[in-house]
Amino acid sequence: MLKKMELEEFQKILKTLRARVRGDVEQMTSEALDRNGDGSESKSPTHLAELGTENYEQDFALRRVENEQELLDEVAEALERITRGTYGVCEACLEAGLTPTKAMIPKARLKVIPYARNCVECERKREAHWR
Ligand SMILES: [Zn+2]
Repeated sequence: MLKKMELEEFQKILKTLRARVRGDVEQMTSEALDRNGDGSESKSPTHLAELGTENYEQDFALRRVENEQELLDEVAEALERITRGTYGVCEACLEAGLTPTKAMIPKARLKVIPYARNCVECERKREAHWR
């Protein structure tokens, strides 16, 4: 299982992510409003460039979520799992009968997708199923 310190770290990441998503929604709204103004685009931020390359993987993950609300729900549930003490455990592996220790999602994956509910292998199986 993850150490208390690590859980606190992920809790912080999730809260930052939540704030960022909420901020993005507001920004998108104000950008849309700007377009109804003088039509000048000079003030609109270069969104992708601002995100930086180190965030590429995470942003890729973010894009796979259908909409902001869905992502906020995932983040809320991940925070809930931290409270319950089930954070970082692959749900599918648990269902398959693995112990929570063996069902741990690798930390490297959680750093990219902090709200992940499944390990890479189970995620792949799930995707294959939906395809
Ligand atoms: Zn799994």
